[in-house]
Amino acid sequence: MAENRSPWLSQLRADRPSHKLDRDGDADVAIIGAGIAGISTAFFILKNTEKTVAVLERDKLAHGATGHNAGQVVSYFEIGFAKLVELFGQEKAKAGQLAVEDAWGLIDEMYRDAQMDIPFARFMGHAGLMTLDQVMRHINNNAARAAAGLDVERMRIADSAPFLGEIPKEHADLYEVVPHAEILDALETKVTDYLAMLSHQKGVINSALFCQEVVAYLQGKYPDRFTLYEHSPVAKVILHEESAVLDVIEHTLTAKHVVLATNGFEKFTIIDQNNLVLDHKFHQLIEGTVGYMSGYLEPMDKQPVAISYFDKGEEDASHNDELYYYLTRRPYEQGEASQNLISIGGPDVDMQDSRAYRRDQDFPDSLIASIDAFVKKTYDPDPNRAIEYVFTWHGLMGYTTNWVRLVGKEPRNPVLLYNLGCNGVGILPSVYGGSRIAELVAGKELEPSIFDVPASRS
Ligand SMILES: Cc1cc2nc3c(=O)[nH]c(=O)nc-3n(C[C@H](O)[C@H](O)[C@H](O)COP(=O)(O)OP(=O)(O)OC[C@H]3O[C@@H](n4cnc5c(N)ncnc54)[C@H](O)[C@@H]3O)c2cc1C
Repeated sequence: MAENRSPWLSQLRADRPSHKLDRDGDADVAIIGAGIAGISTAFFILKNTEKTVAVLERDKLAHGATGHNAGQVVSYFEIGFAKLVELFGQEKAKAGQLAVEDAWGLIDEMYRDAQMDIPFARFMGHAGLMTLDQVMRHINNNAARAAAGLDVERMRIADSAPFLGEIPKEHADLYEVVPHAEILDALETKVTDYLAMLSHQKGVINSALFCQEVVAYLQGKYPDRFTLYEHSPVAKVILHEESAVLDVIEHTLTAKHVVLATNGFEKFTIIDQNNLVLDHKFHQLIEGTVGYMSGYLEPMDKQPVAISYFDKGEEDASHNDELYYYLTRRPYEQGEASQNLISIGGPDVDMQDSRAYRRDQDFPDSLIASIDAFVKKTYDPDPNRAIEYVFTWHGLMGYTTNWVRLVGKEPRNPVLLYNLGCNGVGILPSVYGGSRIAELVAGKELEPSIFDVPASRS
């Protein structure tokens, strides 16, 4: 069994000073959770309001999903745009999609303001497809995007694909027919089962390092308005009409607003002024899935890529839950040496009770073997060599029931807000969530959105 060793956490500063909450205090806004959601929320509140912000982190900065992900910056929804329209209607789905696409600009804003120079490569990413079902799912998403007036993603299908004639004629303008070799070249594989390919903009970033840089910037820019408390687990949140009291070990922090940026797996109690316990309803909103990844280093002689490989395995159409591996290649600095890091994510494993997930649990050998088998079969030009996986890591993805992140006020008590419900694509939605929460905290009335916390739950 291998340990949980993430390449992203390995790049963080080991000597960064950290502080606990060591006395009772107060802040206008208390944010629980110092992952990319909590840190982005802090950034936009500090930038766009005059409020004071305290971030409380149970463990260390960015050591949750933010430090254990694949680090791909992408703006699609895992359920696909067609499903989003089915759930929310075209207008709201389009606004939600555009909001996440606009978060590319928000990341740039954070990057610029903090004068960061950490790597953030952007390029065209690809997804390789084998079956007509997979192709039709993406064509249907593209058709829904076109109908809503959104840009469509580029779809290429091999001229040798046996299912070409089965694609309905009305979709002819949503894909190109190209030589099979063009697809295999772009996917960097010799596996001829890949017959089609979807391409769209992707980026790669170390989101934990990003958080570290943003925090350093916020501490310098707003010394009187921003505090990060690490090793400060929140055990209880008591909501009053216009404020909340947080129990943090033996101290309390009083705030006018509380933002849960906990990835949905908090182990604490939320009690409102009428003594109603809110949290067990809340727990039911999130299901856990553990994502496992492995990484190895190569000479830095190729460009960054992000490629997903969809297999012919069983599919669950209701959740777009396809069997696939995702691979990125990017420059990776470790000490003096710069190399390329190849990181690969495999099939996810569902958890019955996500609160039982432990970050320090070992990485099962069987999953390392299955990722290795995929690499040998699909990507590595020399399938006979032994690859040394210097990183093996896992993280928890929290899926809301509709797979859309929750961003907004708790309908029962608007002192409490949420920016959570991680899921497999959460970097841009977390950043967007941060800017939306800042608007709500500033008192703006916002249009209803797909990210709203459902009132029917209460
Ligand atoms: C294997 C894997 C691969 C992924 N790949 C991608 C990808 O390629 N692209 C993408 O966009 N997304 C990806 N994601 C999802 C993405 O990483 C998350 O959506 C994002 O990091 C969520 O950030 P967050 O701040 O909401 O959660 P987290 O980073 O988990 O932060 C939540 C924080 O809250 C803290 N906390 C919880 N309870 C308490 C408490 N009671 N008191 C104080 N603190 C508390 C936790 O310790 C944690 O640090 C992936 C996730 C995984 C697991």
